[in-house]
Amino acid sequence: MSGSGEYDYLVTGGAGFIGSHLCELLISRGKSVLVLDDLSTGSLSNLDGCSDNPMFRLVVGSVLDEALTKGLANQCGTIIHLAAAVGVENIIRQPVETIETNVKGTENILMAAESCGTPVFIASTSEIYGKSENIPFREDGDIVLGATCRSRWSYACSKAIDEFLALAYWKAKGLPVVIGRLFNTVGPRQSGRYGMVLPRFIEQATSGKPITVFGDGEQTRCFSLVYEIVEAIVSLIENPDAVGKVINIGSTGEISIRELAGKVKSISGSSSEIILIPYEEAYPDDFEDMRRRAPDVSLLQALAGKSPQAGIDTIIREILSK
Ligand code: UDP
Repeated sequence: MSGSGEYDYLVTGGAGFIGSHLCELLISRGKSVLVLDDLSTGSLSNLDGCSDNPMFRLVVGSVLDEALTKGLANQCGTIIHLAAAVGVENIIRQPVETIETNVKGTENILMAAESCGTPVFIASTSEIYGKSENIPFREDGDIVLGATCRSRWSYACSKAIDEFLALAYWKAKGLPVVIGRLFNTVGPRQSGRYGMVLPRFIEQATSGKPITVFGDGEQTRCFSLVYEIVEAIVSLIENPDAVGKVINIGSTGEISIRELAGKVKSISGSSSEIILIPYEEAYPDDFEDMRRRAPDVSLLQALAGKSPQAGIDTIIREILSK
């Protein structure tokens, strides 16, 4: 499944943590890649493995630029749209930018894709499931979001609009879209700056600072290694049967944050102490966390042939080794 163009792929957000690993995978498979990134949370150094490759080109600019996105979409066979607001802390600090980047940026990409009939992968998020307790989360399950006065939910809500819009482009205009709901993705190059827990714990453990577990630490997540996530994205966008579908992309290995802290401490051989920090101290007043988050991956397995397998010990060792 692909349109035509000078480049095989346009990757928006390609200088980010996930995007840069995706670019490396595509190039290793002989694909040419054009990246659009505004370098707000991504960085040039993430692209060290790609920038000298003749199959690769970076355009520094924003998905909010309608003319630019249209011009770039025209040059590419397939679009993978990853550019988005990143990280819970970032989202709470920059609520206007979060909504605008996610909603307007995705609308621009869909309009640009439609103008040249280019297939597009839209990166959505497990945050969409919100406070649902229907574990494991199935793609057709209800979503349960909190009140609009709690800014965290603007992220899930803006991504839900992206999903509705992408599905509408498929249903009403026949644009081939694939929507992936990414669960907690981790690996080398991920920054702890935007609140993400694992890079933070690793940085704290390796520098001898206290490992900061928020709340009671009994909240759970399923972590996947980024290499397996980008492989899944490529398998899905290359599979015509995935068109018009929303697909969970994540692992089923559920772990509590307290246990995660213990693993990081023991595997890194750190002497850091593990401390519990109440949510009121960690985040602004209106914060709400999710107690459990775990995907049903049967659709992913059916469409991509497999789902992420790396266990948490392997993941922690991989990050520590880089
Ligand atoms: N968390 C934590 N300590 C930190 C950063 C995060 O205990 O220093 C917790 C956070 O409250 C949440 C979990 O780790 O319960 C995962 O947080 P992250 O921001 O990585 O992802 P998300 O909440 O989007 O799953």
